[in-house]
Amino acid sequence: MIEQIQEFKQAYSKSLISVSNPDQLNQLRTEFLGKKGHLPKMMKQLRELSPEEKRLAGKQVNEFKTEIENSLKEKLQEIESRPGSSTGESDFDITLPGRGDRSGTLHPITQVMDEIISVFFSLGFSVEEGPEIETDFYNFEALNIPKDHPARDMQDTFYVEDETVLRTHTSPVQIHVMEDWEPPLRIIAPGKVYRCDSDISHTPMFHQIEGLMVDEDISFGHLKGIMDIFVHEIFGKKTELRFRPSFFPFTCPSAEVDIQCVICSGKGCRVCSSTGWLEILGAGLVDPAVFQAVNYDPGKWTGLAFGLGIERIAMLKFGINDIRLFFDNDLRFLKQF
Ligand SMILES: [Zn+2]
Repeated sequence: MIEQIQEFKQAYSKSLISVSNPDQLNQLRTEFLGKKGHLPKMMKQLRELSPEEKRLAGKQVNEFKTEIENSLKEKLQEIESRPGSSTGESDFDITLPGRGDRSGTLHPITQVMDEIISVFFSLGFSVEEGPEIETDFYNFEALNIPKDHPARDMQDTFYVEDETVLRTHTSPVQIHVMEDWEPPLRIIAPGKVYRCDSDISHTPMFHQIEGLMVDEDISFGHLKGIMDIFVHEIFGKKTELRFRPSFFPFTCPSAEVDIQCVICSGKGCRVCSSTGWLEILGAGLVDPAVFQAVNYDPGKWTGLAFGLGIERIAMLKFGINDIRLFFDNDLRFLKQF
């Protein structure tokens, strides 16, 4: 019997510690003091004991009962004195340490975009913006991509209506600028573009920067010089680049610019498909047909244009292998920049 009392005492103390609201307190009271509780049961068992044992055990049971009553009262006072107890928010623990403020940082895409903008800004380019919803004319026609042109297949377009699209590139900003301004001009146009494509290296929305320079006697030499400066500023002075002939409807001649693989330094690896080179942008001299679309005299004016994907540059710069990481908004990823 004495042992049993000790066991109940321990069980009671344990339960009392975990009690945090009046309901739990009542449950504990019923469990020990209620009609079918542990203490009334023990009282009944006392009758079967010898007089000597009865006296000893009876005293202990009575003491335990007083102890329970007092401690329940104390616990109730403690619960009621907690902040928020009247509103039923007794789980609110004001003793927990605070979480503190964490300072935010710019998104890696924004950081790379700012860095690229500042390079071209130092070369005298100004920043222009255009609408993300474009008409067929600005996104395609004026850029020398007529309706049935195969180049339209190069870009999986989101159509808003028959003649309205989510711009598939930042190139339409060129057209808006040339409609508004007379040459000479030097602009870059950063912004969001949309294509119906999604995998490890494509997202339906991504960022581009478009560049356009129009003046008299612009040559491929100007383009090479500007691309040299850009690559060396972004990827380091020792990064080599090369121009590869390519095709874009709005430039002629057109080229793709490769840089020496930033992962293997040109030795050949999985990222560069063992070629030692990585394509980073498309560029060329403005096609005279584009000048005609905006009423510039192709006989007088010449121009260069280039377009690059910010995500692509950021992936190479930071060694990121999945473009979707930029848009998952996982703080564990974003905090690294
Ligand atoms: Zn490589």
